[in-house]
Amino acid sequence: MDEAELYGDRIETIHWNGNGTARAGEIPNQGLLARVSRFGRTIGRATADTGNPLAVVVEDMLGPLEALINGRRTLMFGTNSYLGLNHHPACISAANAAAQHFGTGSTASRVASGNHRLHMNLEESLARFFGRRQAIAYSTGFMANLGIISGLCAEGDAIFIDDHSHASIYDACRLSGASVSRFRHNDAADLDRLFRASPVPGDRIMVVVEGLYSVWGDLGDLPAILKVAKRHGAITAVDEAHSLGIYGARGRGAAELMGVEDLCDLIIGTFSKSLGGIGGFCVTNAPELDALRYASRPYLYTASLPPPVVASTIKALELIDAEPERRQKLLASAKVFHAKLSEVGFQLTSPGGPVGGVKLHGIKRGNQFWRRLLDEGVYVNLLVPPATPNREVIARYSLSSLHEPWMLDKAIECFVAAGKATDVL
Ligand code: PMP
Repeated sequence: MDEAELYGDRIETIHWNGNGTARAGEIPNQGLLARVSRFGRTIGRATADTGNPLAVVVEDMLGPLEALINGRRTLMFGTNSYLGLNHHPACISAANAAAQHFGTGSTASRVASGNHRLHMNLEESLARFFGRRQAIAYSTGFMANLGIISGLCAEGDAIFIDDHSHASIYDACRLSGASVSRFRHNDAADLDRLFRASPVPGDRIMVVVEGLYSVWGDLGDLPAILKVAKRHGAITAVDEAHSLGIYGARGRGAAELMGVEDLCDLIIGTFSKSLGGIGGFCVTNAPELDALRYASRPYLYTASLPPPVVASTIKALELIDAEPERRQKLLASAKVFHAKLSEVGFQLTSPGGPVGGVKLHGIKRGNQFWRRLLDEGVYVNLLVPPATPNREVIARYSLSSLHEPWMLDKAIECFVAAGKATDVL
């Protein structure tokens, strides 16, 4: 199976554009369905021997980082629970109490009856946590990017994004109608080149970068990139989805770690990783952003966050503040894990943060390695093109502050066994 055939750019253009003209039970458009069914068959063939890495079922949770998968006890090295807060008793009891009092869901948008006191409390907590004047919460991190980027930028504006940006940033750019240009990953000189070539004035340009890039696992070069953006008068947005709670003295993310929070106009993030819930946010000092609530369609036209999630997220923010030892342990484990993988001979993508990848050299071998590792009792994410830079196939691992040394050792043993069995090592 050729990778281009399986994961070519073509699949990025699949959209579910049902045209709504067919009667009930009729297939609305043979062509579109035929295309997606061809795609499904290709995936089926490519994963016939190994099982589909994108369709794993967690049959049960046996502990915060142990699950039942394919009937066997499996160590989880592919969650985004960096601080283990989705299992913290205080977060669980906050969620329980909110469900008892406010119900399981808000059943309405923030601009209708879904604007509970809890939502206001959450935004106040976020603003306080980041030391910013305002915060806006969205129902997912994906929607925060869609809402903020497409709410601020429009036709005639320009957006410059890092080549390794998350899909939600790409989609937000498309939705905005602005012209979009990518600069080479973490390359401030290439960003500068985009500015110099652009006919759009600096104050109509947004630069979007990430604090920690989760495919490669490397930190954004925020000082260099944000300085270039500011020199040209652009608005800057930093997505701290994977770095929130982990980096910086107070856990505010990569910008805090690097001392460049002042250069970030907008900090975007998610509740679905270190905060252990679901939802997204943007914090800023720009008072203008409050009006975005009435111009941001992913805020206006979707139900607000469920009260239990809001309550657990508020508690999780408090814990990030109160328990820095969680992030210290995570970073120490990440260093050990990375060093051991590298010592035994794996080629790694990242310099050793809480998320990283082992290069697997091709889809077939990648699938085999991933499956063998699962059979050994360790779950990781298999990342394939076009979700990866340079068409790499990667076993992406992510660590948690709840990983104990024995778990790290066991995982390394299993990585080695899988690597030897599939010629990755
Ligand atoms: N931004 C980045 C950089 C991400 O990595 C992700 C999730 N992988 C998101 C946004 C989307 O977050 P959510 O899962 O909360 O929608």
